[in-house]
Formats: sequence, structure tokens, C-alpha cells
Amino acid sequence: MRTILTAEKLLAPEEILRHPTVVIEDGAITSILSRDEGPVPEGRRLDFRGALLVPAYFDVHFHGSAGSDVMEATEDALNTIGGFLTKHGVGAYFATTVTAPVDATLQSLSGLAKLIGKDLKGARPVGIHIEGPFISHSKRGAHPEQEIRRPSVALFNRMWEAAEGHIRLMTIAPELPGAIEVIERAVSLGVRVSLGHSNASSEETLRGVQSGAVSATHIFNAMRRFDHRDPGILGVVLERDELFAEIICDGLHVHPTVVRMFWRAKGADRAILITDAMSATGMPDGNYKLGELDVRVKNGKCIIGEDTLAGSTLTLDRGIRNFAEFAGVEIGTAVTLASRNPARMTGLDSQIGALEAGRRADITVLSPKGEVIETILRGQRMMGS
Ligand SMILES: [Zn+2]
Repeated sequence: MRTILTAEKLLAPEEILRHPTVVIEDGAITSILSRDEGPVPEGRRLDFRGALLVPAYFDVHFHGSAGSDVMEATEDALNTIGGFLTKHGVGAYFATTVTAPVDATLQSLSGLAKLIGKDLKGARPVGIHIEGPFISHSKRGAHPEQEIRRPSVALFNRMWEAAEGHIRLMTIAPELPGAIEVIERAVSLGVRVSLGHSNASSEETLRGVQSGAVSATHIFNAMRRFDHRDPGILGVVLERDELFAEIICDGLHVHPTVVRMFWRAKGADRAILITDAMSATGMPDGNYKLGELDVRVKNGKCIIGEDTLAGSTLTLDRGIRNFAEFAGVEIGTAVTLASRNPARMTGLDSQIGALEAGRRADITVLSPKGEVIETILRGQRMMGS
């Protein structure tokens, strides 16, 4: 069946198209035209008057939501998460593990591997991001100290095998002994490497970059602080144009002033919005799990121990609205930081992050203020999921 979407505007790869008509057949976009160019074709018509159509969002750093954690790695958990995410405009995510006992991690990875590519509800995992166990003790944030491991190609290989090759992103601290070998091994398998949970000097960071790292994990958080005589990892990540960087734009993890500095440094092609969301996202305050960790949530803030931030309860649609407000940019610009840019960083840009003829119809319908009106995935309306 043919579906015709009309709206006020559409975020196309190179422009904002006015009065768009999107033709969808068999879950794919077959054409995008402006109504000013000719008559609207025949088909089931969905008219989103006043709305902006954008690519469905892609979150490369996401642990869970709606009471479920991706490390549960069950169909139920991922269906719950998938349904929740569609309310927030997300179409795809990387199931992100946290540092946990090796056996538990391997079990999660193998469970996730079996679910990736399956017919799951709503937003789907398109790969795995392993955040830990190869991270710095001193910058571990909420990750459990006793489960942190020295980087080892042998352990990485075990994780790769358990994940059946679905690991697409790895966070690692480049200064650790053995890290460079693990980075090289990961890169040789097509895994993107993101530097983070790190106390690296600038020299150590540059060695990671020379070995193939392309991004930084939640920049500023769990990272050596900037010093003008000893710029460290932050100096390198902000200064080197080729590096992408993730940011958590919830107003808690990074101050709005620093979000503006980040925007000036990384710009429209390298900045990536993530949530780092955990299971408490979309749930009332209380006690929750992040992997195997106990997290306290108060006023939406996730805390471990005295005051260590442990992930967030941010949703990506809110992160986008926050970014637009903090940085003073259009909603459409902020959307590219959560769709096109993560797709480019991870090499998935031929499938994710753009509205064009020939692509899967994964479309988020926004109000002019960036509120999600509805999400269309694989050409299907996700209402009520
Ligand atoms: Zn995380």
C-alpha cells in the first residue's frame, strides 16, 4: 500500500524542504517532492499540518528506559524499551553495556546478538556499544571498580565472539597498558573506537587517535579536566577537527555555557547528542539498576554513592530541544546531531540519519518546537506502542 505524508517542512540532507510530500511504499521512501512542484499523488494520506519531518533519531549511547536495561538482553526488555523510545522520536540505538562481571557481560552480549536484526517492537538495536571494562579506575564514574579490566585482546576477542560480531562501538581509555593493541584489534574488525572514562594526557590521547579512535564518549564527563598547560584528552578532543564527540545535553551533566563552547569547537559535522539513559528513564524517582549497579534517582538525577552521576534519565527529543536552546540553533540543526552525525561516526549513514528516496521510511514528526508528534518506523505509525 502507498502512504502519502504531507507536512509544513522536511529536513532533507542539504536543505529544509517546504511543503513536502513523502511517498512511502513497502516501508521505504519512494519519493520526496514539494507540493509546490505538482499535485499530491494518490494513496492513503497522512497530513501533518504545521509539522517538521526529520530522520528518526539514533542514540549510540543508551543503557535502558521504562524500567528495563539492555543488559537484560531479553525480547521483553527490548520490546518495552523499543516502544518507549518511539514516543521520543528514536528509531535506532546501540545497546550499551556497562562494566560488569565478565560472565554477565558475555551473557548480555550473546543475548543481544540473538535479538539484533529480529522483528522487535518500535525502535531497534542496530549494534552494541561496549562501555567498559577497559576504562580508567580514576575516571570510572559509576562503573564498579572491581570489574574494571586491563585492556586485553584476548578478552576483547571473547566479547566479540559472544556478541557475534555486533559490537560496533567501544569506549576505552587509551592510556591504559594494552589499550593500543585492543584499539587496533577493534578497528581491524570495523568497530568504531571512542575515547572516554579516561585520564589520558594529550600524548596518550593522540596515540589512541593514531591507532584509529574517531570519537570521545560523553565529553567532559568521566574525563581528565582541562588544564591550559596540560590540555589532556579534552584539549585533543576539542581541538582536533576530525574527532567526533558525544555530549549529554540534559543541563545536569554539562553546563549550558560549556555546551556552547562544545558547539563552537566540534560544530555541525562532529557533534553528537546522546542520552546515556538508564532504566529509570520515563519512570518515577526511586531505586533502579544500571547493569548490576544500584542507582538512586531523585528529581530525575541518577546517583551512585554520595554524588556520582550514573547515567541519565534524559530522552533524546529533550536533549535535542535543550541543545537548540542552549546553543541557540534551529531544531533541525540539533536533530542532525542525533541522526546524521552518529550515523556517520559509526559508518551506518547509508541506512540511518537521512530522509531520501530509496531509504527505509524512519521518520519523526515534530512540532515547530521540537516536540514529538509521532514516529514512523519502517513506514508504520508507532502510535500506542
Ligand atoms: Zn553510559
